[in-house]
Amino acid sequence: CGIVGYVGYREAYPIIIKGLKRLEYRGYDSAGAMIYDGESLKHSKTKGKVTDLESRASAEISLNGSIGMGHTRWATHGVPNDVNSHPHFSNSGEISIIHNGIIENYEPLKKELINRGYTFTSDTDTEVLVNLIEEVQRKENLKIGKAVQVALNQVVGAYAICVFDKKYPDQMVVARLGSPLAIGIGKDEFFVASDASPFIEYTSNAIYLEDEEMAIIRKDKPVKVRKIKDDTLVDPYVQELQM
Ligand code: GLU
Repeated sequence: CGIVGYVGYREAYPIIIKGLKRLEYRGYDSAGAMIYDGESLKHSKTKGKVTDLESRASAEISLNGSIGMGHTRWATHGVPNDVNSHPHFSNSGEISIIHNGIIENYEPLKKELINRGYTFTSDTDTEVLVNLIEEVQRKENLKIGKAVQVALNQVVGAYAICVFDKKYPDQMVVARLGSPLAIGIGKDEFFVASDASPFIEYTSNAIYLEDEEMAIIRKDKPVKVRKIKDDTLVDPYVQELQM
């Protein structure tokens, strides 16, 4: 399973597809991608290989967006099929997530959300998390980074996640607990991936998130890393990768 994300000035889609292929060795049963083209979230997902995603995405994703993310899934909750593949979307359609890992307490959270009127299209634990983020955001009127943080503090489990909210179209929120997540720091561009292989040709500077850390990755701004639990800012160690 793997995660790739891009925020910058290049076409995101080819970087994401190439990156997902480099992460194939980690094993997976489905693949998906999401690109924001300045107006809407375009996405494509399928059971099968990254090459299956490519054939499908040619009709569904326009090559016109410099922010996006991709995922390879190793199913834990819900069989491997198209609907259970990532990305998943919140009920409003505005928040999108990709996730590696497991949300262990997804059942009570899902019940609570259903009581509040949320509906679910997949059988995944991940779709519960993206709707929890939306509910927290709505209820407490929070920016996306804060909403992700509050939601993660209600979650038990393991995760590497990448979240995009259409209302904040220049940024991506990432977090990790138990699953790896690296951030590639380029010039006016950032990369996210399960390991550095998807971005090694673009930059040799990387931040490896520690467990229980999250980061807001914004175009034209330094990456901000903080502790999920108590919100303290972390001065991240930027590692020099060997090319
Ligand atoms: N638990 C999530 C799912 O089953 C993510 C699995 C993964 O790590 O790819 O959809």
